[in-house]
Amino acid sequence: SGHLELEAQPFSPREMIQQVSGLMSAPAMAKGIAMKAEVDGAVPARVVGDRSRLQQILINLIGNAVKFTDEGAVGVRVSVDGEDRLRFEVEDTGIGIEHDKQTLIFDAFRQADGSMTRRFGGTGLGLAISQKLVQMMGGTLEVKSERGMGSLFHFSLKLPLGVAEETRDAEPIVVPRKTAGPLRILLAEDNRVNQLVFLKLLEREGHIAELVEDGAMAVEAALRGGFDAILMDVHMPVMDGILATMRIRQEELVRGGHIPIIALTAGVMNEERDRCLQAGMDAFLAKPVREGEVQAALARVAQAPLD
Ligand code: ADP
Repeated sequence: SGHLELEAQPFSPREMIQQVSGLMSAPAMAKGIAMKAEVDGAVPARVVGDRSRLQQILINLIGNAVKFTDEGAVGVRVSVDGEDRLRFEVEDTGIGIEHDKQTLIFDAFRQADGSMTRRFGGTGLGLAISQKLVQMMGGTLEVKSERGMGSLFHFSLKLPLGVAEETRDAEPIVVPRKTAGPLRILLAEDNRVNQLVFLKLLEREGHIAELVEDGAMAVEAALRGGFDAILMDVHMPVMDGILATMRIRQEELVRGGHIPIIALTAGVMNEERDRCLQAGMDAFLAKPVREGEVQAALARVAQAPLD
């Protein structure tokens, strides 16, 4: 599982930053702090690199920045750093980090001694893993901070110019697991009525379902493995479906793999749809879900047979 392949695809840094800051503005707003995004005018429209890993690193850094800031703002910035290099910065006005702690926070051993609960009790990925990913991409994640004076995390990466015609911003979402037969589905849903409806529906389609009732349990079950797809309610207690999906995707960055996740949303609001897709969900279904729709979605993302 230590094996990791980097993507080299053209993408728009501007659009990527817009997405990341859009995704993180809700948790920032909930804490009453501002979320600012800035892309220098000199940053090229297209560069070549591993967009989704870069995005996950930034989400992790911004997540931490929000978590450790109670007043002020969190900013993400991209600028040009010499030929072919972009500099990424995540800054906050939070509690800061003492000097003697600054090297420890990137330490993989500190990370390794934590239990599952400890690891997933935080904002997710962890700085040790972010550091590892940045280094794989040819940079170093560094921090500048004073206690009580906020923190600045930054790294610079060589990202060659991309050609506009080859644009491909979306990740391929189809990961075939099975070609036929029943699928093992993890159903994450807190509402009793919906639980029954979906369990019945899945059973009728010949699938094997396991039920969990909140996002934290969904993350735990997904990481235990053994599922072909996840049906994930967006609004759940303890941890919502968006955050649960982000955690699963973050862990997959290290472990490899990609479990198809289908969001179960209450409405058809575009904004919620976007948040689902940005968090790494592959498809979504608006409730109430009609017969056949679940199977169609499974067929799309998990290669369930369409009869
Ligand atoms: P976790 O947040 O789960 O503890 P991380 O590896 O992301 O794991 O962060 C390690 C530690 O570094 C945090 O527990 C915190 O003490 C410190 N830290 C990280 N980012 C910040 C930040 N922006 N401001 C203050 N402290 C931070």
